Amino acid sequence: MSEKKTRDTNPGVGCEVTGCKYNTIDCRCSAARISVQNEKAATKGETYCSTFCPRGTC
Ligand code: SF4
Repeated sequence: MSEKKTRDTNPGVGCEVTGCKYNTIDCRCSAARISVQNEKAATKGETYCSTFCPRGTC
């Protein structure tokens, strides 16, 4: 059975990382909170969500 379903989500966070266990069917984030990291980031691609958790592994 898929984990991917609509759950309580962070209303201001849209996310298309479908491989994350917190990602919902409507491309939102259901984590209690998220942390975006890389203090040296200078571009969008250098930022990352440290709350990301691959489905089935955590
Ligand atoms: S935890 Fe991060 S990567 Fe996962 S759905 Fe939320 S914002 Fe996206």
